[in-house]
Amino acid sequence: MRSRKLFAFVLAIIILSIFISGCESNNNKEPLSKTEFLMDTVINLKIYDKQDKKALDEAIDRLKEIESRMSSHIESSDVRQINDNAGIKPVKVHDDVYHVIEQAKHFAEISHGAYEPTIGPLVDLWNITGIDEKERDSIPTEEEIKEKLELVDYNDLEIMEDNKIYLNRKGMKLDLGGIAKGYAADEVKRIFKEHGINSAIIDLGGNVYALGNKANDESWRIGIQDPFDITGNYLGILNVKDKSIVTSGDYERYFKYKGKKYHHIIDSKTGYPSENEVAGISIISDKSIDGDALSTALFVLGIEDGIQLLNQLENVEGIFIDKKEEVIIPKILEKDFTLENENLKLIINSH
Ligand code: ADP
Ligand code: MG
Repeated sequence: MRSRKLFAFVLAIIILSIFISGCESNNNKEPLSKTEFLMDTVINLKIYDKQDKKALDEAIDRLKEIESRMSSHIESSDVRQINDNAGIKPVKVHDDVYHVIEQAKHFAEISHGAYEPTIGPLVDLWNITGIDEKERDSIPTEEEIKEKLELVDYNDLEIMEDNKIYLNRKGMKLDLGGIAKGYAADEVKRIFKEHGINSAIIDLGGNVYALGNKANDESWRIGIQDPFDITGNYLGILNVKDKSIVTSGDYERYFKYKGKKYHHIIDSKTGYPSENEVAGISIISDKSIDGDALSTALFVLGIEDGIQLLNQLENVEGIFIDKKEEVIIPKILEKDFTLENENLKLIINSH
């Protein structure tokens, strides 16, 4: 049963990827392409300017390596070692894991814990994968949530010398699920660039990096996911070159309990899935690791605080879709964004 649902989930994401590619390719030449299920999602890599199979294989190997080090579900991973030694001793990790954890702590600090890498105990308690189920007959109790909440605090994530990481209380758990795919996309980009590739789409389950431009010096046309349309349709098109586009939303991984939706992004202040006016948020940035952490953070922060945080950062923009079916874009993106779904209202934010 599980495998059938997993198959349906994978199929849905593949269809979604096809929708994205449908609007991004529009190119004479067929790209060199590869699709795999990795990092708990469907990844799709497409190279347009070279038939460089070696680059593709190297990228896939690197993704597997990142997953093997950063997944909390893999027993031998660095993250698992950190978690198993919480409150016991610091753990020496690979350079890349150390770098991602440093970044994770940075984004936790600037978002005041809206992005919270030590959210693990609550993620495990809720266990919202969105794969097995759409309906549940119970949710965690208030006591359980309170107990786990006490184990969540990025201030207790210690980044030490000599690549050592320490969670300083027993029961704490690091979860890099909200940032690792962004880092991975940056790594695939690095590998492609090293191979002299200047035209590619790197799609790690909706965490997209549009490398260079289309063959004829045109921008890529990237579809922004419509959170109200579960069939994977996009609500609008964004023209970009050399940019990361990362989306967080409540439409993919969630379950329902007594008619209410419980999605997979947890508010570290309440211990419950975040509740605010945001239905979806897409971050446009140079580095995908930034986009990944920030999309998760802004989903929790909401529009007002989210825009305030974005205003402190350079070269990072956000597209919010709120539950009133409004699409809020910053003025700087106005010329590059086209709303395609007429049921939604476009709002240009000039702050
Ligand atoms: P997705 O992985 O679906 O693209 P996100 O990048 O927003 O979405 O990451 C969500 C994942 O991050 C969750 O599945 C969980 O593992 C972890 N997570 C949940 N809540 C938070 C949070 N507040 N801060 C950091 N990570 C979180
Ligand atoms: Mg994220």
